[in-house]
Amino acid sequence: MTTTATEQEKTGLGNYFIANYPPFSFWKYTFLPDAERALNSAPRPGVPLGLYLHIPFCRKRCKFCYFRVYTDKNARDIEVYLDALTKEVELLSQTACVGGRALDYVYFGGGTPSYLSASQLDELMTRLRAIMPWDAAREVTFECEPGTLQKHKLEMLRKHGISRLSLGVENFKPEILQYNGRAHLEEEIYRAFGWARELGFPQINLDLIAGMVGEDWDNWKECVSKTIRLAPDCVTIYQMELPYNTVFSKELKVLGNDEPSLAVADWPTKRAWMKYAFDELVKAGYEISSATTVVKNKAKTRFVYREALWRGADMFGTGVASFGHVNGVHIQNLDTWEAYIEKLNARQLPLGRAFPTTERDRLIREIVLLLKTGHLDVPYFRDKYGVDIRDEFRPAFDKLQSDGWLVVNGESIDCTPDGLIQIDRHLPAFFDPQYISSRYT
Ligand code: SF4
Repeated sequence: MTTTATEQEKTGLGNYFIANYPPFSFWKYTFLPDAERALNSAPRPGVPLGLYLHIPFCRKRCKFCYFRVYTDKNARDIEVYLDALTKEVELLSQTACVGGRALDYVYFGGGTPSYLSASQLDELMTRLRAIMPWDAAREVTFECEPGTLQKHKLEMLRKHGISRLSLGVENFKPEILQYNGRAHLEEEIYRAFGWARELGFPQINLDLIAGMVGEDWDNWKECVSKTIRLAPDCVTIYQMELPYNTVFSKELKVLGNDEPSLAVADWPTKRAWMKYAFDELVKAGYEISSATTVVKNKAKTRFVYREALWRGADMFGTGVASFGHVNGVHIQNLDTWEAYIEKLNARQLPLGRAFPTTERDRLIREIVLLLKTGHLDVPYFRDKYGVDIRDEFRPAFDKLQSDGWLVVNGESIDCTPDGLIQIDRHLPAFFDPQYISSRYT
């Protein structure tokens, strides 16, 4: 079956963005012995270690969400989960791959970490910090849904050293928030943001999504201008995709095609919205720091989690269905509540599937992920991998350059502005043949 150019530009079903390499569909249960070996080996010299904690609870499920989240758990379930999570961190802290390293970065993601109450967070963080302290970490990020925040909860986060607060705003318009299944209200955004500023969090990021169902030009302009008025340190803009296993993808199947009522803008429109937002934010003093982010002060406003991970740092991915990377091996945890809890009750790591990368896989992974920053530094790859990436991937660079998506200028490779906004769709040009045209997840 062939796909026409017009069909390619519609927002069809499936993942569009590239978050890792090789694709997740190649990670297997049968590679778990590799994961165990990696965890039980000393770390490679100079590689930082991070910790990701998945808090899988949300007030309600957004219709576009494909993460492992639960909206029906009671206080007792949450306690059971947090006990298991703490046990997992404890087991990991005892593995040889820690090798005396202090945590370089920590990330509380979800789900909705801020769904937890202030006292649950206090207890969890106190226990975690006793096992793996993060006082020396360069960054501790915490994702929040604005409607779940109270001032005393934010005070608790400040007390525990959260340095980067990420607010999932996505849109400001009540009807759009509601139709897409978001739980928060517009006024809760301003309230949460005000408290966060008042309490002096070193960095506040605000997330938006270009292309939520019901979006149009007038409202998008309004969202961008409200964002600029709030003046966060960092703004992250995602383009709406329609992965499998979301409420929207099921509604699409019921409709039998991807045309009617479910109006998700096509890719050119979403890219035009991204471009507009980036242009306005740049006019307001922001700098572009990746295909999805602008920051107020590039030298000061870092995103350590992303920088470290994209350069091949180790990271323990804890919590149900979490993704991690240790000593060259990708690892994903078991992805059901029952299996995850059961393993930890037996004091075993809840490993689900893995993929042992080769040196070439890791090289391609870094090229692909770092291209999302808009820039590749040829000497960096030469020092680390002993190859000149311009020679090694000449056909891909030539093609992307002749199509106008990037420019190879001596030892510097830079995406053009148009190229950066749509870089994900060009990244498979660097994939080895066995990983092209496969389902990504
Ligand atoms: S708040 Fe985030 S994790 Fe929770 S359902 Fe919505 S998109 Fe998914």
